Amino acid sequence: MTEPSILVGGTGHLLGPAPHTVEHLAAYRSRGGNRTGPTPDELLDLVEEAELLGRGGAAFPLALKLRSVRERPGPRVVVANGAEGEPGSVKDRHLMRARPYLVLDGLRRACEVIGADRGYLYVADPVAAERLRAALAVAPPPVPIVVVEAVSTYVAGEESAAVRFLDGGPALPTAKPPRVFERGVGGAPTLVANVETLAHLALLAAGRSAAGDLLVTVAGAGQPPLLAEVPLGTPLRELFSRPRAVSGALVGGMFGGLLDEKVLDLPLIPQAYAAAGGALGCGAIWLLGPEDCPVTVAADAVGYLAAESARQCGICVSGTRGLADALTALATGADPGAGAERLANLARWSAGLPGRGACGLLDAAARVAGSLLRLHGALAEQHTERPCPACLAHPPAAGARLLVPPTEPYFPQGAP
Ligand code: SF4
Repeated sequence: MTEPSILVGGTGHLLGPAPHTVEHLAAYRSRGGNRTGPTPDELLDLVEEAELLGRGGAAFPLALKLRSVRERPGPRVVVANGAEGEPGSVKDRHLMRARPYLVLDGLRRACEVIGADRGYLYVADPVAAERLRAALAVAPPPVPIVVVEAVSTYVAGEESAAVRFLDGGPALPTAKPPRVFERGVGGAPTLVANVETLAHLALLAAGRSAAGDLLVTVAGAGQPPLLAEVPLGTPLRELFSRPRAVSGALVGGMFGGLLDEKVLDLPLIPQAYAAAGGALGCGAIWLLGPEDCPVTVAADAVGYLAAESARQCGICVSGTRGLADALTALATGADPGAGAERLANLARWSAGLPGRGACGLLDAAARVAGSLLRLHGALAEQHTERPCPACLAHPPAAGARLLVPPTEPYFPQGAP
């Protein structure tokens, strides 16, 4: 993937002063890292006061997650989740590459808070994995921590898939219950927390809270990816140094569905995105420019999800394939006589499929299809007669163009 431009705003505590370079241990310590800091109980109180939400996608309160594992009998385990399976997101890999000691510090603190006797760094990016291994060799933590290289698939970062992989199985989600806080790695109660979330924990311990900051990855509309640290609530519009022609966005990676052009002024907080009918998820946003048709973007995203289905749940295999085929036919104008039935099927499936798979992939596909019909129903109907020029020029390709950003620099003079 093209290297992202990086914009550091807010406190800048997450990405640090030099996010394109590796922060070494001495520099990390000089910024307050690895201090003795608060006791585990005090740190848990700080997390609660900061109302810190997880940054992996579900925005689950971290304090609740920590408590739900620590109140169970040991031994307990922590997994730092850096699998970053949402294809539009690069924030976790760059955080780990730039600030391996910050992430390790957060993982160590999480082990202390829940009384874990071991930890894992579950990481898909090989560069990040290498830097974390090097950091572990320089500053070995008090509990054993190992780096495990995750596979690069959409579902590998789902928490039960991570646990299954660490136990020697395939990186595929399992049925719930039990949830991983009840029965995780080796059967032990397990905290699976996103690496950005753990970085927040280390910053809280160092008295340098960035709980009001968020990492987001923004691409699309003819732009290469931008990685930005912003105060929660910042609208996307403020990330642009020049006005952008944006007609909407695919949000939350491929998880949150489509939003219309008002997305530019929506505060970057999970609640605002949910209220608008989407999901902020891991903060990955793919902007639609004037040359993009939402029908093809939806077909692309759902085609990608169908190809990434772990093919464990029958309803997911048939559901994602049915959605992808219907959207692709709509985008390409195939078999126009079946257009009305196709739209009716899309409406029925997008309402009826969520919640029926073992993980969120099926929900994501249904949300994308449902959002297309909700926001662009008339456009979808027009496509039953004839695809638009944008769809003809760029037919769906199972998500390929959503994964490969263009190469123009986002801020020509570098990030401000
Ligand atoms: S919902 Fe789909 S991707 Fe998720 S576990 Fe079932 S088959 Fe796999």
